[in-house]
Amino acid sequence: MIKFNSISDALHYRKKCPICLSELLFYNRANEISIIDNSIFIEYFYLNHMIYESDICVNILNNKIESFNGKASESLSFIGDSDRINSSLSIECHECGQYDYVVKLYLNNNSVEAVLNSESITFNDDPFKDTYQIYNLYPTKETQVIQFSTNKEDRFSSLPLIKLDIENLEHTINRIKKLLIFS
Ligand SMILES: [Zn+2]
Repeated sequence: MIKFNSISDALHYRKKCPICLSELLFYNRANEISIIDNSIFIEYFYLNHMIYESDICVNILNNKIESFNGKASESLSFIGDSDRINSSLSIECHECGQYDYVVKLYLNNNSVEAVLNSESITFNDDPFKDTYQIYNLYPTKETQVIQFSTNKEDRFSSLPLIKLDIENLEHTINRIKKLLIFS
């Protein structure tokens, strides 16, 4: 499990798309997060299993919570460690759309932990052969593969976690192909 030292590190875990080499960008899917300079503002927040519509501001360089609903972080002492921020960061390739990763944010005292949750890549080594959509789910240590075939039904498989070798995707896909034969 990759735990990042800071949200800033998480945002730069990978800089370029492994497929098309375009720059990866943070994508604000639900419009609930904004990043301004070195601060990230997160709109929704779980507190003691009740949902409050709130706004926390976290410094992305040291992950410290700077304010909660506009109040200074001293007012945060009542927040339990088990409370969870209902947010994740999705960093994606906006050019080819074939790669993305997702970082989950968790509360830890008055700071936020950023943990790599998943990574997804769509890989095709030959336009006339099968396409593989590989989804690495790190909390459950699982690699899910969807094989889109040109001449057979699409196939879904779940394998033990396989490390994505971004520098050598052929190596990763060959390993997956071998494991799929026996799954
Ligand atoms: Zn791309």
